[in-house]
Amino acid sequence: MPKIQFFNKVDIMHTVSRSFQDLQTLKHCGVIDIISTMYLPIQVKQPGTARDLFDWLLDAEIKRGAMAGVNIHPALGIHPMMVPSDTKVLDGALQYLESALKTKKAIAVGETGLHHGTPEEFISFKRHLELAHQYNLPAIIHTPREQKAELTKVIMKELRKHKVERALIDHATKENIAIILQDPRRNVKIGVSISKSNLSKKDAILLYKNYSYENRYILNSNAGSGPGDMLSVIKSIEEFEKAGFRSRILQKLCYDNALDIFGGILRESSL
Ligand SMILES: [Zn+2]
Repeated sequence: MPKIQFFNKVDIMHTVSRSFQDLQTLKHCGVIDIISTMYLPIQVKQPGTARDLFDWLLDAEIKRGAMAGVNIHPALGIHPMMVPSDTKVLDGALQYLESALKTKKAIAVGETGLHHGTPEEFISFKRHLELAHQYNLPAIIHTPREQKAELTKVIMKELRKHKVERALIDHATKENIAIILQDPRRNVKIGVSISKSNLSKKDAILLYKNYSYENRYILNSNAGSGPGDMLSVIKSIEEFEKAGFRSRILQKLCYDNALDIFGGILRESSL
């Protein structure tokens, strides 16, 4: 039976906030495929900011990953916590998003979703879903800490409406997992972010024990500039192993299920 160190592993995080050494550490721990979503603690105040951030991910960040020995797969979106409050600015930023998606270098659209649930976030979220559908890309969708159940219901309704077939509903907890699972589609995945601000390793195991949908989960660290642990996926898998879960299932949680929706990982892996 293969042990965790021999598994392929993928993680989803905000690499722009991590150092070069961090990327090398991930490589040494066997995480060589990283889906990178853009998050910085700013609100976009002019459309050009979005353009510059997309360019950063699509160019310098991919090159930086390659130098460190990891494949960085950029996802493009305006994170709900960065959404402009001025709808004109938002409109311009969304136009840059579409131009960036046309380069076909993105593996997914996102993070998008709802955080405070403002009208601007909602406009932005719907446009991201339209673009995901139009460009046949999976969507990475943020669910918030507050009003989690309520806003997840809105999110799931929009997802169905926009006919997005592949999605990751991220930062799932016991408060919204049953709502996500009401959508029976295998490729609507449940993102389990193991970090200080979301679920502990123990909570992740408990969630899985209560809702054992082995084909639906994707573990991720969601590491960025905050106190999250970029090795939390690896450490959680070790905890799952200790708790007696079979390698076949663990391989799904840390890689195979991600491949179901982010097939581009295989095409783009160059190492
Ligand atoms: Zn998020």
